[in-house]
Amino acid sequence: GAKSRGSNAWCFFHEDMTQAARERLALEARLRRALDLGHMRLYYQPQVDLATGRLVGAEALLRWLDPEQGLISPARFIPVAESSGVIGPLGIWVLNEACRQGQRWRDQGLPELTIAVNVSLHQFLLTDIVGATTQALTESGFPARLLELEITESALAEKPEEALFVLNRLREQGLRLAIDDFGTGYSSLAHLKRFPVDLLKIDQGFIRDIPNSADDMTISSSVIALGHAMGLKVLAEGVETREQLQFLQQKGCDCFQGYYCSRPLPAEDFARLLEKERAGLPQVEVQLSEAD
Ligand code: C2E
Ligand code: MG
Ligand code: MG
Ligand code: MG
Repeated sequence: GAKSRGSNAWCFFHEDMTQAARERLALEARLRRALDLGHMRLYYQPQVDLATGRLVGAEALLRWLDPEQGLISPARFIPVAESSGVIGPLGIWVLNEACRQGQRWRDQGLPELTIAVNVSLHQFLLTDIVGATTQALTESGFPARLLELEITESALAEKPEEALFVLNRLREQGLRLAIDDFGTGYSSLAHLKRFPVDLLKIDQGFIRDIPNSADDMTISSSVIALGHAMGLKVLAEGVETREQLQFLQQKGCDCFQGYYCSRPLPAEDFARLLEKERAGLPQVEVQLSEAD
């Protein structure tokens, strides 16, 4: 084998690689096992209409519930899932589970709402996302018009032609499409114009420092105006304060998500928000104060 050649350079390379590669392989193996053992969960974060305070949707956010380590954030394992190919089966599980849950709530007579599912770059371009969504919808009975797929702006910017092809196939199925983390992906406006999407989601990085950052306020209001000029709805991510909510409302932003309303919740807890919606109650108080 390579070792018998006695190359020091190889040994050095080998030693250097083992640590990172071993950790990666271990995480990848644990990830596959976690999926098989049913340790994955979807949490749901409300999407709220800024004008009425009413619940309009839920974003499904993946959690890995490890018996030893507790909740593991998707930021830690989605990149490994992406580069190892685990994203294929994992993404299928997410789509199936989100559609099953959405249909369960409908069966319980709870108000209808959109379920938004995140789709990452490799999942979008290298797996059969069209087949996976068709199957998830058929098997669950959840209607296509209530399923929204979120694709990051950077994924669309990476391979715009391929992305356009896939987006069109998804659109033919009757799904809704959203561009996630908008403002961070350097997509050209020329491409953006051609993407058949319904919603722009302003990245939380532009919301966080409102009202202290004049730049971020300018960027956010420009994205709202741009989205509306293109006939799209605009949602602000990561809204945590009343000041941010009021600013976005004044700028005519359509919807928001964020801790100001709720953190992502397990399905059982999210059902309480659906009960509130059924009772006709707003999720948050949206009345502007006298000063506005
Ligand atoms: P994202 O889709 O942009 O989701 C928004 C993230 O912001 C979520 O983090 C959410 O919990 C968090 N967030 C929501 N409101 C607030 C707020 O008011 N303040 C702050 N500081 N954070 C807030 P999370 O759940 O850790 O997910 C991180 C990313 O992982 C997601 O970003 C998404 O890109 C990816 N992801 C999550 N679930 C899935 C999945 O099922 N499939 C794929 N491919 N990616 C996923
Ligand atoms: Mg998202
Ligand atoms: Mg986002
Ligand atoms: Mg993000």
